[in-house]
Parts: sequence; structure tokens; C-alpha cells
Amino acid sequence: MKALDKNDLKGVIAAWMQEHLVLAPVRMSKGDCLFDTYQEDLFTLDYKKPPLFPKALFLPHNEVVFEARANKLREVISARDTILFGIRSCDMMGLLQSTSFMTRDREDVFYSAKKEKAVTIVMACPGRQNETCFCTTTFSGPVARKGFDLQFFDMGDNFIIETGSEKGKELVSSLPFSDIDFGLAARMIKTFKEKAVGAIPVIDDVYEAMRRLKDGTAGDGVWEHLGGKCIMCGGCAFVCPTCTCFNVCDHEHGPGNGVRSRAWDACLYGGFTREASGHNPRPTQASRLRRRHEHKLLYYNETDINGGLCGCVGCGRCSDYCPVHIGTLEVAAEIAGKKNQG
Ligand code: SF4
Ligand code: SF4
Repeated sequence: MKALDKNDLKGVIAAWMQEHLVLAPVRMSKGDCLFDTYQEDLFTLDYKKPPLFPKALFLPHNEVVFEARANKLREVISARDTILFGIRSCDMMGLLQSTSFMTRDREDVFYSAKKEKAVTIVMACPGRQNETCFCTTTFSGPVARKGFDLQFFDMGDNFIIETGSEKGKELVSSLPFSDIDFGLAARMIKTFKEKAVGAIPVIDDVYEAMRRLKDGTAGDGVWEHLGGKCIMCGGCAFVCPTCTCFNVCDHEHGPGNGVRSRAWDACLYGGFTREASGHNPRPTQASRLRRRHEHKLLYYNETDINGGLCGCVGCGRCSDYCPVHIGTLEVAAEIAGKKNQG
């Protein structure tokens, strides 16, 4: 275990920037916070859940993957040494799930190249960021269990730092990082964790929804009702750290020239599963919404594939941003029979 005086943090980040792009929480003009290129005057440690999350670094919203010039094809793989400083535990777990999807079976080289060059530094969550956080329900926070290179614990005047990889160890191997007695650090982290866990309620509706989805008692009426509300904006997928769907498009720029790009897609869009024949196996919004929530709460249920309990890491963003208030928390409540179908 290592320790760092808080006053030394900006100097440490400045040193890291000699060799890395550093992305960190920065305050925007309206007061909200994003992960963006580190800027000393905008950097903040006083931040809540940012609207976007680190997956976009490895799977950008829109990315060219091939280009053709005079009939010569080449892959476009761009990656640079990057440090992601201060991501929360739920996003770390989301990143593990995204990485699992993008690298199992057939490796997505465009994603992997970026991921391999990245160092992930978690800032353990001190408690509930807002009323939609439910990481204690999905076992994905408030303290990360794996996946990180470093995990910082904010102890007031200083940080205690847990190392999770050789890359992480290297970053904290010299001054101003100092050694701290392991037993003392472990006790402080235990106290930190107990306080943080106690501040984030466990949502029984989520477990009940998982149970009903598993035993087939969720009922079609729930999906008909929720599907009637969904306006197909795709927002829930775009803010979700575990969603990885994308569409691929070719753009011709004259004979022999062009690019192939991919862009985020969403399973709640009407055309997402439409096949070339015109047949759509998910023809209604009810069936698409059901599919989405089965992915979040059913298929990975109890397998603990990558640090969480299921395909949802309990960040609550879909509940924060869905314009018609049918994020995962609301859907789980409805499946659990806690909401009137009005
Ligand atoms: S489904 Fe919603 S709460 Fe779960 S990880 Fe995705 S955005 Fe977060
Ligand atoms: S954010 Fe809400 S309205 Fe938009 S696609 Fe998702 S469930 Fe539907």
C-alpha cells in the first residue's frame, strides 16, 4: 500500500502528463463535471457521477476503422498512452464487462489497442452520488474489487493507494508516494468501505425483478406498458457503461477511396435487429425493451462474470437520463410489481 499527500497530487499528474494523456474529472462552465483532458484549473476532486464514462475512450461514439486509398485498404488503429484518473467503481466494473464483450471469441483490435495502452485509476466512492446509485445491489461498488491498476481512497489530507497491477505499481514507485503500514491502511480502507456501503441502499426490487425474469413470471403486460412509454431515443444505451452495440457504415469518397466507420447503436432503435430481408425479430418496442432488460438483469445473472452480479453495474444513469422515466430502477420496480401500470 502507498500513501500520497493531497497537496502533491497536481504535481504527480503533471509528471504523468510528460508521457501520457491524462483524463480526469474537470468542471464544466455550468458546474457539471466530465472526464476530459486534465486541466489544472478545472480539475476537481469534488465530483459526482459524470454523465459519460470511460468506455467512450476505447469505443468512441464514432470511429473510422478502415480506409481505402486508391484501392489500398488499411486498418486504422489509433491508441496512445492514457491515464484515466478518478473513475468510480461502477464504471470500472462496466469497463470490465465492455472489455469482456469486445475481446472474447474474436478480439476487437480497435478496442484492445486503446485498452492496452490505458492505465485505470479508480477513486473509491465515499457514498451515494445521487438517489439512483445502486452499486451495492449489483456488487459493483462503492469500492472496486478488481480490474484497476490503482485505487485511491480519499482520507482527507491524503490518499491511501491500493495497487492492482504492475503498471500501477510502476506509477507509484517513486516519491512523493510513500509506503504505509499494510495493517493500518487495511483498517482505514475497511472503515471507509463500511461507511460508503452503508450510505448506498440495496434495492430489493432489482433482485425480485431478476427472480421473476429468471422464472418467467415477469408478465408480458409489463413490457407492453413500458414499451408504450419508450420514445426510442436510445439515451439509456448511450449513457450505459455496459452497452457495447455499434453499427458499421461504409462511406465512398470516389472510386477506390473511402472509409469504413462504426458508431454507437442502440437495441431500442426500431432498425437495430432488422435483417436484410426486412424481417425484424424484435418488431415492437415492447419486445426491444424486454430484450434490453433481459441483457441487464437476466442473462449474466449470478455468473459474476466480471466483477458484478449481472449485466448492469448499478450506476443509475439510465434512470437519471431516460426522458420518460423508465430506466432500470423503474423497470425493476414495475417487474417486481411495485409500480402501478398507469
Ligand atoms: S442499465 Fe442503467 S443502471 Fe445499469 S449499468 Fe446501464 S446505465 Fe447503469
Ligand atoms: S432512454 Fe427511455 S425513452 Fe429513451 S430509448 Fe431508453 S427507455 Fe426508451
